[in-house]
Amino acid sequence: MANHKLRSPVSTWIGRFGQDCWFHPQGWLWGLGRSLLAVPQTVLRQTGPRIRGLGTHLTRGVRAPRRTRMWWLRLACKFADLFCLGEILNALGMFVKHNTRPLSFMETVEARRIFGDSLDYKRVRLDEWSLIAHIANWVYQRRTGKRSGHMAVTIFNTIHCSRRISASAGNNDMAWLIHELTHAAQYQHIGSQFLFEALLAQRREGYDYGGAEALAARDFPQFNREQQGDIVMDYYNILLGRKETPGPQRQSYERVIGQLRAGKI
Ligand SMILES: [Zn+2]
Repeated sequence: MANHKLRSPVSTWIGRFGQDCWFHPQGWLWGLGRSLLAVPQTVLRQTGPRIRGLGTHLTRGVRAPRRTRMWWLRLACKFADLFCLGEILNALGMFVKHNTRPLSFMETVEARRIFGDSLDYKRVRLDEWSLIAHIANWVYQRRTGKRSGHMAVTIFNTIHCSRRISASAGNNDMAWLIHELTHAAQYQHIGSQFLFEALLAQRREGYDYGGAEALAARDFPQFNREQQGDIVMDYYNILLGRKETPGPQRQSYERVIGQLRAGKI
């Protein structure tokens, strides 16, 4: 019989912290370095496209008969993106959270089947011990009166989960992760405005995008941010044979997924 020594919560925490800080690709130091590096990288690569995005937004706003609250909110987000607010907050978050992790090799391989090269997978972090996700779960239960088994909230490039993700090719957790990765793709392509758009989508039309019939009539950017997440998740399930779909309907999914991969979000 093994002689088990009782460990205090403090020594357990210190032990775990030491493990997490270990300098390896799953570790905290590596993730912190990558997050800090993301700031100058974004300045170099994204400043041009972000200035162009801001210009387009302003031009459209000048022509529009009235500027709504969402228009002003998007404008504020575009300015924030220009100063890399998302990347800076992600890097600051890494100082506080030492136990986030990058996508595993298997998760990246599965996600690549959908997103191809349109997503920077190395920038995505998973927080499986997230207070934010638990707070979001509590707010959801109070607002709707429904009980939710688990909750995930994607903020910039970090996916906050209320429990550990046990993803394997084609299982429910992997499909769930694909939905959340769609939000990371939204952030990487259109910037931090996706956060407000996703919140608004939850309050208004919700997640139901109308099935394959609706896909034939509309382009990917015409669906709200949550519907986009569910379209991509459903396509993943179709691809893995978990959702029976006739040929023409499958083509409708492939058309909009092509738009996602081309960055038309
Ligand atoms: Zn979502």
